[in-house]
Amino acid sequence: MNEPVIELLCDLLRRPSVTPDDAGCQALMAARLSDMGFTCETLQFNDVTNLWARRGGTSSVLCFAGHTDVVPPGDESKWRSPPFQPTLVDGDIYARGSADMKSGLAAMIVALEEFIAAHPDHDGGLAMLITSDEEGRARDGTLKVVEELTRRGEHIDWCVLGEPSSQTNLGDIVRIGRRGSLSGMLTVHGVQGHVAYPQLADNPIRSFAPILAELHQIEWDSGNEYFPPTSFQVVDVRAGAGAPNVTPGELSARFNFRYSTEWTHESLQKKVESVFDAHGIDYELNWHLSGEPFLTKPGKLIDAVTQVVTEHTGEAPELSTGGGTSDGRFISPAGIDVVELGPVNASIHKIDEHVKVADVITLQSMYRRIMELLLL
Ligand SMILES: [Zn+2]
Repeated sequence: MNEPVIELLCDLLRRPSVTPDDAGCQALMAARLSDMGFTCETLQFNDVTNLWARRGGTSSVLCFAGHTDVVPPGDESKWRSPPFQPTLVDGDIYARGSADMKSGLAAMIVALEEFIAAHPDHDGGLAMLITSDEEGRARDGTLKVVEELTRRGEHIDWCVLGEPSSQTNLGDIVRIGRRGSLSGMLTVHGVQGHVAYPQLADNPIRSFAPILAELHQIEWDSGNEYFPPTSFQVVDVRAGAGAPNVTPGELSARFNFRYSTEWTHESLQKKVESVFDAHGIDYELNWHLSGEPFLTKPGKLIDAVTQVVTEHTGEAPELSTGGGTSDGRFISPAGIDVVELGPVNASIHKIDEHVKVADVITLQSMYRRIMELLLL
């Protein structure tokens, strides 16, 4: 393989950068970026290494973003080849991180090199924001870097995330937003008792059951132009005193909302709490917000990405907000337009994760073309 983008990809894949260990990936990228005239800065927060690189003017700034960390490989003996030894089979490269998302990173670096060599006096500015904490707790990564950049008054207009957005063919799906994710941790208090004397006890399963049914019956919304309907899922319910003749004194449950821009986490919490309150039970409810929904509105960035994908594949991409959360949730609230364009995601996080060599080369060309449309 003497394609520069594939060589760089393999160099990155050989570094076992399981979250939050960057394993030298960012140093490798920073060396290439410095050679292109970027000012590179490592922003270390606790055990997470982040890279911020910046070049050129302060208006019309395009930032490429992503993560060097990967999920653990799992049982290495189940892989067709060692997970940190990139292996080419029938036009695919197998390795942990090949699709999520070191191919995106390699394509960005080589695209930047080509673009800057051809247009050293381009308009606007370029940036790269890379973290090693996307797959983990995501507390000391992109979130902290964006906070720091906001504090400095650093301006970014557009952000292209290299997450694996494609479903079947490269570019078939471009993500322009993500649903919000809100979790509830519930405890219902009752009074434990003998199963034969229910009048002397207060069984929390009995008080929770109708509430659960009611929550399932609510049509939270029917989605909107860009979002599927909001979904409520219970992931855990437990109670029980461990004996067949004892009714429990306490019940705990966990549930999660994936929600559209029709809600905020505050409005959802209020609605759920009003259901509980109407039943007059003794409960505690704690909330964890993973991210509010975000959406990039039509404009220059979406136009450019749509045009570039169409030029390369012959078909316009589907603009979607599906899938899990991504670091876009931390970038978008700073007023930055974010899209996600990357390789096919069918094998991500799995044994035998792989990416098509041809797709990585095309992705590099797509990224270069996006720069041409936005910065020339
Ligand atoms: Zn990823």
